[in-house]
Amino acid sequence: MKKPQTMAIPLERITWEGVDIPVRLTPEWFDRWLQDEPGLEFTLATPIQGEVHLERHEGNILLQGRLQGELSFTCSRCLDPFSQPLATSFEMLLKIGHQPVLEAELELGAADLEEEYIPGHALELDAVLREQILLALPLKPLCHEECQGLCRGCGANLNREACSCRAPAGQGNGAPWSKLRE
Ligand SMILES: [Zn+2]
Ligand SMILES: [Zn+2]
Repeated sequence: MKKPQTMAIPLERITWEGVDIPVRLTPEWFDRWLQDEPGLEFTLATPIQGEVHLERHEGNILLQGRLQGELSFTCSRCLDPFSQPLATSFEMLLKIGHQPVLEAELELGAADLEEEYIPGHALELDAVLREQILLALPLKPLCHEECQGLCRGCGANLNREACSCRAPAGQGNGAPWSKLRE
């Protein structure tokens, strides 16, 4: 069986001087993510490139990274596919050990979201990268800001065509709009 390539970084590899890890996220990497989380609403338009720097920081691990690439979305208004660049950089302080449960509850909402825990003997870089990509996504993907969307009456893509629903009152069968005017 082919071993999936996960990016687990053994903690002993992370020195005080730090270690640089080149990142290249391919469509195969993304497919594994999609298997774990089938609800993802984007794909990779190009492989995502970047770098992660890890170094010891007191008893913790400081992670700095950047990612760059292009993602494909479906426009939330007109449902057309489109691509958009992804460019993000991030910095996190990772604590070694398990997060105390009480503290986790208290931290919800108020606290430092950039502080996370590494429970085992290796840092699962995939999980960090997935999270950072999700944080960089647009809340509402739009092909462009002025996207006109789809006509609620006939479903026409109003970026490309005017439909009869929008014709002035008295012409055509513009029921949805004439009702609105009344
Ligand atoms: Zn659109
Ligand atoms: Zn229409």
